[in-house]
Amino acid sequence: MLQANYHIHSDYCDGRDTLEEMVAAGIAKGLTSIGLSSHFPLPFPNDWTMKEERLEHYLNDIKNLKEKYASQIELYCGMEIDFFIDRQDISDLAKTVIPQLDYAIMSIHTLGKTSGDKVFYIDESQHDFELGIEKYYQGDQQAFIKDYYQSLEKMVQSYKPDILGHIDLIKKYNQNNYFFDQNDRWYQETVRSCLDGIAATKTRIEINTGANMRVPGVGRYPSDWMIPEMKKRNIPITIGSDSHSVEGIVYEYNQAEAYLEQCGYQEYWILKKGRWKAQLLGV
Ligand SMILES: [Zn+2]
Ligand SMILES: [Zn+2]
Repeated sequence: MLQANYHIHSDYCDGRDTLEEMVAAGIAKGLTSIGLSSHFPLPFPNDWTMKEERLEHYLNDIKNLKEKYASQIELYCGMEIDFFIDRQDISDLAKTVIPQLDYAIMSIHTLGKTSGDKVFYIDESQHDFELGIEKYYQGDQQAFIKDYYQSLEKMVQSYKPDILGHIDLIKKYNQNNYFFDQNDRWYQETVRSCLDGIAATKTRIEINTGANMRVPGVGRYPSDWMIPEMKKRNIPITIGSDSHSVEGIVYEYNQAEAYLEQCGYQEYWILKKGRWKAQLLGV
């Protein structure tokens, strides 16, 4: 049984439940090590990340919860931090807060310019995603996708985050291959080249099991075909459900574990006494 979850949202950002409710849900499901990972404040207005003025409170709240539940679960303080394609960087504020965290997930959610007018997101809606590609890539999905994967690689090489979040988020609204076909050679080559760059670091790729809960049919991040490619490159993995409510705390965990074993993965990485350690799958 998978024992960890390092991708957990709460009502500090766009999650529904409190930090404590999420911790209790993890304990109830028998998890032994979890991390809370609110969306880090963005340097422009939005309605889905934590507000900057709540940061201090968040860090304190987790500190108190760690003490309160110390006999039941190992609890870690993380955040999901955005890397911006246009800036090829994370925010200055994030750079100052990372040292105060137990771990960081880094992800890309935005598309195009992140200053000035409306910001477009990869995962907000199919319409928004399409408008963003229209505006910033003249409708050329391939150009955007290449830019996205190259940016992930740059992010990992620049910051070596503990965890890379939902690597192929760009497929969230790709039902019926609306934007691209994962079987296309150019797509697979783009992904493979990104994996080569990640494999040169120690960053772990997250197996994000929550995708189907939010948009049925999306599957998991990364897609099934990518797992053997990661295994070939010895890329370490972590587990996270990207849960935004207590019901999702171990969403599709059994299926993910079975598939990882099928692909030859024998271990995943968990935080134990504050350090990353390999944990066997299937026990
Ligand atoms: Zn995310
Ligand atoms: Zn998330």
